[in-house]
Amino acid sequence: MVMLTFREFSEFCNSLEKISSTLEITAKIAGFLRKIEDDSDLYDVVLFLMGKVYPSWDERELGIGIGLVYEALKIATGVERKKIEELLRETGDLGKTAEVLIRKKRQLTLFQEELTIRKVREVFDTISSLSGEGSQKRKIKLLADLYVSASPIEARYLTRLVLGEMRLGVGEGIIRDAIAKAWGIDSELVERAYMITNDFGKVAVVAKREGKAGLEKLKIKLHIPVKMMLAQVAEGIEQAIREMKRVAVEWKFDGTRVQIHWGEGKVTIYSRRLENVTKALPEIVEEVKKVVKEGVILDGEAVAIKDGRPMPFQHILRRFRRKHEVGKMLEKIPIKVYLFDVLYANGETIDLPLKERRTILESLVKESDRITIAEQIVTNKEEDIEEMYNQALNAGHEGVMMKNPESPYIPGKRGKNWLKLKPVMENLDLVVVGGEWGEGKRSHLISSFELACLDEYGRLLRVGKVATGFTDEQLEELTELFKPLIEYQEGKVVKFKPYYVFEVAYQEIQKSPKYESGFALRFPRFVRLREDKSVEEADTIERIAKLYESQFKSKRS
Ligand code: AMP
Repeated sequence: MVMLTFREFSEFCNSLEKISSTLEITAKIAGFLRKIEDDSDLYDVVLFLMGKVYPSWDERELGIGIGLVYEALKIATGVERKKIEELLRETGDLGKTAEVLIRKKRQLTLFQEELTIRKVREVFDTISSLSGEGSQKRKIKLLADLYVSASPIEARYLTRLVLGEMRLGVGEGIIRDAIAKAWGIDSELVERAYMITNDFGKVAVVAKREGKAGLEKLKIKLHIPVKMMLAQVAEGIEQAIREMKRVAVEWKFDGTRVQIHWGEGKVTIYSRRLENVTKALPEIVEEVKKVVKEGVILDGEAVAIKDGRPMPFQHILRRFRRKHEVGKMLEKIPIKVYLFDVLYANGETIDLPLKERRTILESLVKESDRITIAEQIVTNKEEDIEEMYNQALNAGHEGVMMKNPESPYIPGKRGKNWLKLKPVMENLDLVVVGGEWGEGKRSHLISSFELACLDEYGRLLRVGKVATGFTDEQLEELTELFKPLIEYQEGKVVKFKPYYVFEVAYQEIQKSPKYESGFALRFPRFVRLREDKSVEEADTIERIAKLYESQFKSKRS
């Protein structure tokens, strides 16, 4: 078997730099990949072309920064750091800088061992296994040894590779198409294989050895993350009902995605970007072991919750980033996981519609304080969805997810089977011009408020009513505040002297003959009382008309 040399790889990279057409680059890569005989060489080349040494979910990393490269170059060439920095200023690229330095040095030495891809990989694996005291020095030495064996052009790509930036413009799309072209396979199938394995190196090796059939057979595996299914922005509730007939509705939790793998005695947790975040979430790991049946891959949202309400989103990211002294953060930022899907159970990928996956999910989890299953209703009624949407917002979450109960889980797919509905519009500041006393328990409270905007003459034009977003406490306070402003009352309906301004959020602005403004707010929700704003400072009909227009531009973003 002919092993690929690092020189051949580097010369190939160099030839790519001269091409700008993506099609041509793809074709060249396809040809190069096809000629590689050894499987591990093929694996490495695919990753190296993208400037990666490991797939992104692999916890291993080289941990080599620019400073370490300077040190290694200094040892290999005897040139001082200051000189190297000067040269870098000229070339603008540390890869080219290394190339120049090695060229100068090479003229003085006679014999070098030929570097192979295999050898480079071995050294990389050693480097990434080093940690603790003295590891920096060892890394520098190992990298310096590679430089000593490198030709100038190899030094260029070696440098770029350890820094993770090949400057070849070869991304995932090109690699996918090149693999497809090399072995005559449909790009979509290659893409699907990637979604499942998240490792193009592996996809290439399977494509080469087993072709189309091999890729089709690829299965989800425990402790290897799967790309997560994603959602599209909903046009509205009616759209969801029209397209799905019956809609499975869940809260859209304000947290961050987690994929939990539990099997073979261990738990691994991946973030939305498929980074391994297991170490940051020890209490969730323990809880999963306690309350979930082993042998599963689950999908859910981790939310930082304090006193029953989600904490601002940054908090959960702080937890995720934490690798050391995690203990301190456990109490400060308590996390709860809401599970909403299952991809794998009992040793198998679950290729079933959502409604059946949901039943399986329920059978796998014994809910606890830390881990629960997201509540779900299945309905074809607009009011039910509206109610759930308001509940979610009142609880401090983002909105709702509307899912097709008949749909499969498609990794990495952003499709019409999951639609997200959340307030996307800028809030409005509107004048409170009227209200209505509540019913039953709330009959002593004014529980809905009529809102108006200004026209160019300072007249007030009504745009809707807001009846959600208030806590009972707030309603008590607001009732006291508004009572003195009542100008007249008829039945439960009251009119106020215009004085206070509410900031409101809403889902959408619609045209409507119902109010004299000609517009109506869909799902308006109280955000706060703008005591700082006077009536004259409220939003105008002109702004509302602009926002109305802007919806058509931004809806699909
Ligand atoms: P976005 O980030 O706006 O594209 O919305 C999609 C994200 O919403 C997902 O990646 C999840 O992190 C999050 N999410 C919250 N609740 C749910 C839910 N019930 N089902 C699916 N995704 C959810």
